[in-house]
Amino acid sequence: MKILVVNAGSSSLKYQLIDMETEKVLAKGGCERIGIEGSFLKAKGNGLEKVYEQAMPNHKVAIELVINALRDEGIGVIKSMEEIGAVGHRIVASGEYFKKTTLVTPEVLKTLEEKTFELAPLHNPAAATGLRACIEVMPKTPMALVFDTSFHATMPEKAYLYGIDYNDYKAYGVRRYGAHGTSHKFVSQEAAKYLGKKPEQLKIVTCHLGNGSSISAVDGGKCVDTSMGFTPLAGVLMGTRSGDIDASAVEFLARKKGLSHADAVTYLNKKCGVAGISGVSSDFRDLDDGAKKGNKRCELALDMFSYQTKKYVGAYAAAMGGLDCIVFTAGIGENSPNVREGVCENLEFLGVKFDKNENNLRVDGIHEISAKDSKVKVLVIPTNEELVIARETAALL
Ligand code: ADP
Repeated sequence: MKILVVNAGSSSLKYQLIDMETEKVLAKGGCERIGIEGSFLKAKGNGLEKVYEQAMPNHKVAIELVINALRDEGIGVIKSMEEIGAVGHRIVASGEYFKKTTLVTPEVLKTLEEKTFELAPLHNPAAATGLRACIEVMPKTPMALVFDTSFHATMPEKAYLYGIDYNDYKAYGVRRYGAHGTSHKFVSQEAAKYLGKKPEQLKIVTCHLGNGSSISAVDGGKCVDTSMGFTPLAGVLMGTRSGDIDASAVEFLARKKGLSHADAVTYLNKKCGVAGISGVSSDFRDLDDGAKKGNKRCELALDMFSYQTKKYVGAYAAAMGGLDCIVFTAGIGENSPNVREGVCENLEFLGVKFDKNENNLRVDGIHEISAKDSKVKVLVIPTNEELVIARETAALL
């Protein structure tokens, strides 16, 4: 069966067509600037690439164009739309309304649109627009919703609750939901396979470090805690997001800067993090360059990021009562030896023996960066969220 994976944003739509027998990507690409002048689709298939410069006033036109690209004479990989067995849609937030991958029905669509939008106002409405467009263009094809939050649904109450009035949690669903669940799930499963163990036998801390960063404790294959919270603003500081901050400091800052509640949250999402600390950039490559040239604030931003991530490793080892493996993934986790070293140094007391030379090598696929005799294995594992979405969708059918 072939599964189409769709990740729709407000002005973009990324896709992959995956053959589930081989788990190979047959075609992939993305529409950009949907609803804006200058929209285009960059599509790959059969080892070729083609750019379609075409007006895409809405997501329906975009998905029609994607289907055309999939059937194209040159880069196309299917003859007819019927070859697509199902579509898996990436959805950022589920609240407590969906605990697992869910087949789309009219009721499911209603719940998604009426209940979850306020939990992820930038992401969920865009994903729903993409979903509606797919339903219109492919009315007979089953659609699945795959949530970034599902993998975190196994967290116990003591881990996901905030210390607020329990009645308010019940009334408004204010609690930790987490993010990047498909990535944490994928890399923790890959780590178990690589180590030749069953997931049930392992205590793993997975560090998804990218533009947004989150760290999870995966005990026996199940997520038991994660650093992101009610929204993806929580946890470690990120590219432009502050991460955890005392709520009173937010009120104080808002008053001093004359910001509304909503503007204060926008400030914490867009103007803070390593970009705010360094005053240079949200991109870790720029921070590395800056630090090498002696920029102290770039150095400080990198130090803070590694330090905060390290604290989660320690906290989660304590929470799980042990540690077998640390995994690094996503843009920074896969590409920044500096950050990985900063997180892993001085963790010998936990059983981590880090191999600095190995860490500085660039290796395709899974890369073991702990010493051979390290009790705790440290792995770099490229994430593959699309494959998880395709697997979940296929399993549901
Ligand atoms: P997203 O959350 O947008 O999917 P990614 O996982 O792609 O983010 O991570 C993007 C980030 O990865 C960039 O902002 C950059 O800071 C970081 N990154 C990418 N390549 C490198 C590199 N070679 N060295 C350090 N950081 C890198």
